[in-house]
Order: sequence, then structure tokens, then C-alpha cells
Amino acid sequence: MNKTIENQLRLCPTLPTISSVALRIIEIGRDPDIDLREVAQLLSNDPALATKTLRVANSPLYMRGRQARNLHQAVTVLGLNATVSVALSFSLGTCLRDIRESGIDLDRYWRRALLSALAARLLGNAHGIFVKEELFLAGLLQDLGMLALDSAMPKEYGVLKPFVDDHESFPARERAAIDVDHCEAGEWLMKEWGLPEYLTLATRGSHDLRDVDAPEDLHTFIGCVTVSGRMAEIYLAEDQQKATADAVRAARDFLGMSPEQISDVLTQMAEELPEVESLFEMTVLSATQALGLTDQARELLATRNLQLLRSATELQERELEFKKQAHRLDHIARQDALTGIYNRRHFDESFAERFSQAVAAGHELSLAYLDLDHFKAINDQHGHPVGDEILVKVAERIQRQLRQDDLFARYGGEEFVLLLPAIGPKAAQKILDRIRDGVEKLQYPLESGAVLSVTLSAGIASYPLGPRKYETPDALMQAADDALYRAKQKGRNRVVSAA
Ligand code: GH3
Ligand code: MG
Ligand code: MG
Repeated sequence: MNKTIENQLRLCPTLPTISSVALRIIEIGRDPDIDLREVAQLLSNDPALATKTLRVANSPLYMRGRQARNLHQAVTVLGLNATVSVALSFSLGTCLRDIRESGIDLDRYWRRALLSALAARLLGNAHGIFVKEELFLAGLLQDLGMLALDSAMPKEYGVLKPFVDDHESFPARERAAIDVDHCEAGEWLMKEWGLPEYLTLATRGSHDLRDVDAPEDLHTFIGCVTVSGRMAEIYLAEDQQKATADAVRAARDFLGMSPEQISDVLTQMAEELPEVESLFEMTVLSATQALGLTDQARELLATRNLQLLRSATELQERELEFKKQAHRLDHIARQDALTGIYNRRHFDESFAERFSQAVAAGHELSLAYLDLDHFKAINDQHGHPVGDEILVKVAERIQRQLRQDDLFARYGGEEFVLLLPAIGPKAAQKILDRIRDGVEKLQYPLESGAVLSVTLSAGIASYPLGPRKYETPDALMQAADDALYRAKQKGRNRVVSAA
């Protein structure tokens, strides 16, 4: 995240804050030595929190025969980590819902949050993930960044309307408008609060698992969060058909799930929603609405429509495959088959472009023309394959010495060109001397036991300096070629600058 935005967030007086209870729970979660009794003690100080934790422990998810009658039993049933997550869901849920002033539709925000939390937990269940409450919490908090951004830059954020178009495209719209998206902002705020890493990672990856560099063993966990938001949108988005297709695609891509499995999760969501609504004292959907929507969604996922969805995704896949293929072909067309570096075609195209950029920006630009010395003799004495081998090694060696922006290509035969953006004649001379030196030091042991080496000569011309100003790429190229000619004449194995 860029520093200006981070400062803006850090200094924002209305940034969501968390209650002392929530802070204490976060602390407890981080303490490796804490025991269940202390957690129960803390929860018992907050009757509402205690009652809710007891209810979760006695929900069908956890109940194993015996009912938990008191907080200590409940905490034992849930275990330490789940208790901490349950407590955080409730306490953060409560304090964040104290936010009343906002440019975003908070009611819609919380309905999405609760549905996502539930979906994340159920998706995790379908994958045999043991840490269900952590998933619930991660699902619940995944859009936290929206609350942060809205409070830090209310004017700019309000107009973005997170829920008007589909939420899928929202991060891209955020980045275009304010240079940060809510996944990044959420990650940042969670780190500020000291929340555990699994939450910060899941928030960062909540739109696309691929946005986050997470350890392998968290991929399914984060995938559940990534898909959970899409599941929520099935209930909330205006275009239910599109939302369903999005969810199906995401479930397949991130979790390898079939539409039938998604349909099952939707049914379970409708079943469990009332309990979650009651625990969070919120109405997400009316009962009939929930059932009606589920029916609709299931219908969408059934037979003929499923076929349509499938073929739509297959079509997209094929399109992607085409694009990849085109990209590969394009890359091959620009690559020199022997050395793997760029070929003349790519160089000519890019050179013209880079030249205009340098002219427009008023930057320097140096071009070097490189030619191996007496290369014909190497072929004649040791054979063409040895010559090939040397060309590959030389190209590799030079490429390793370059910066990202430099453009290095095989121009033909034993000739190479090197374009150095923002480099003037003096620096270019140094760079080429180093390259010349590196190539000279390379050794090529032969089967016979003999060891070969080669040298190179190079000519440099720099825009805009030099005797003429070089107004075209061709003029610069000609000047570099002339300089190379002089290097050869002076005895080879040297670098000559046109300047
Ligand atoms: P100079 O120092 O004047 O540049 O001498 P030179 O022998 O390098 O120059 P010349 O242009 O006479 O010969 C270039 C030689 O490079 C001719 C050819 O045998 C060799 N060559 C060009 N392309 C390849 C290639 O792809 N593989 C191999 N093995 N040799 C090549
Ligand atoms: Mg030559
Ligand atoms: Mg040569």
C-alpha cells in the first residue's frame, strides 16, 4: 500500500476502533500459555458474549451428546482457538456495528458479512476444515477495509458505490479511483489491531486467492473466504444469475468444487441462517425470502441451466487458453531460437518505441552494437556446433549483467544489439567495458582438452549527445555501427563510442 494512503489511514480520527474486550481477546489469542479457565473468566465478564458463546457450543455444529451447561464447559467443547474466534466474531461484530455514519450502505455491508461468514464456515466444513470458527471470523471480516477506507476518505469512497455494480469488480474500481482496494486496507487495519496472520492473509486474498502469497496449507482456508463472498452475493446481488455463475466459477477455480456441491452449501446456508441472524441480532433475509432464493439458486444450478453455466465457463476457459496460446506464439516469434534472447524483429519494434519515449521524455538513451571477433575462424577450426555453443554462452553471460529495462537482442549471426534506456555515453562506455571484459574471461573447454575463448568489439552511440543529435532510430543505429567499424579497425576486443 502506498505511504500516503497508509498515513491517511493512520491519522484518520474516525477509523473504526475496537472495544477493550476485543483487544483483550486478541491478546489472549496470542498468548501461548493462556488456559481455558482464563478465557472463560474473561467471557464471563461480558454476559452477552458469554451467552452467545454458550449457544454456539450447543449448536448442532459442536454438540456431541452432552449439553454445555456453563461457560467453562462451553469453552472446553469449543477449544481455545475456536472460543477466541467466536468471541472475536461477536465482540468485533458488535463494536464495528456501532458505526452509524457512512457513505456505504451499512445494512447491505452487514448482510453480506454475515452471509459470507456462514458460507465460509460451511465451505470449510465441506472440505473437512477443522477450524470452522476461524473461517467464520475471516468470512465476517473480509470487507473490513471498506469501513476503514470509507472513514479515511469519505468523499472519494462514497461515490464508488461498492454494491451498485457487482462486488466482483469493486477492487479494480477502487484501485482506479483511490489507488488502494479494500483487501489491502483491511489487511493493513488487521495488522494494526494485532489480529492473527491467517486473518490478514485471508482478507488480502478475499477477492482473489492469487493476490496473496500465503503458505500452501492456508490455500483451502483462504479459498473458502474467497468463495464465501460470491456465495453471499447469490442472495444479495441484483443479477442473481450472474452472481450464481461467479460463485460456481470461483468454487471450481479456488476449491475444485462442483456446482452440485455449491447447491448443497446454499441449502445449508438457508437452514443455518436463522440461528446466525439471531446470534447477531440482525435480519439478513426473511425466512421465505431465504427459502425462495435458495430454490431459485438451486434451479439455476439444475440440469439445463447448469449446462448453460458450464458451457459459459468452458467458453471462458477456451478464450483464456487462446489468449495464452497467442501470448506464447507471440513470445516465440520475438525470441531468437538459438540463444533464447530477443530477436531482431522484437528489437526493431521496441527500439522505435523506446526511442520515441526517450525523445518525448527528454531522457538519454544509448545503443551498442556488438560483434564477436574473428568468429568465422572459430567455426572453421572447431565446427559450427562449437560456434553455436559459444553464441549461447556469450548471450547468457551478457544477459546476466543487464538491468530489467535494458533491451538485448541477437541482431543476426554473431552480432548483438543492446539498448540502454536513461544511460548516457560515459555510463554506456563503462557498462560495455564490463560486458567486453566478462565475455573475454569466458572459457569454453573442448573435448580435445583445449580451451577456447572469444572477444568482442562494440560501438556505442547515445541520444541526444554526439556530433549529430541523432533524430531517428536509424541515425543512432548507423552511428553505433560506424563506431563498431572503428573498434574493429583499431584492433578489435574494444569498445568505441561515437561521442
Ligand atoms: P570480425 O572480427 O571482423 O567480425 O570477423 P568475423 O569472422 O567474426 O566476421 P564475419 O562477418 O566475416 O563472419 C561472421 C561469422 O559468424 C560467419 C559465420 O561463420 C559465423 N556465424 C554467423 N552466425 C552463426 C551461427 O548462428 N552459428 C555459428 N556457429 N556461426 C555463425
Ligand atoms: Mg559480423
Ligand atoms: Mg565478427
